[in-house]
Amino acid sequence: MSSPGPRPRPVPQRTCIACRAEQGKRTLIRIVRTPDGRIAVDASGKAEGRGAYLHPLRRCWVKALKGATIKNALKISPALDDIEALRVFGMTLPAEESETV
Ligand SMILES: [Zn+2]
Repeated sequence: MSSPGPRPRPVPQRTCIACRAEQGKRTLIRIVRTPDGRIAVDASGKAEGRGAYLHPLRRCWVKALKGATIKNALKISPALDDIEALRVFGMTLPAEESETV
């Protein structure tokens, strides 16, 4: 039971909390629950705190901001200010995947 050769290095995959599709981590935008209980876009992808990932697509952000998607993902009830900030950010994103390259 030996398997010669190098083991394939796993590419880190993250799941978009809106559409549940898996994607390489780098193509997704991270949002993070900050230590003071706010939710922010994590542009660096390295901020401390519980994070969640979304496609850089407007429709995923719109979907995530409806209902309890973010609340469930980050285990927090987001402040209305934060929801609004995320909504505004989402509106700056392209509507279709084909525009993201
Ligand atoms: Zn998505």
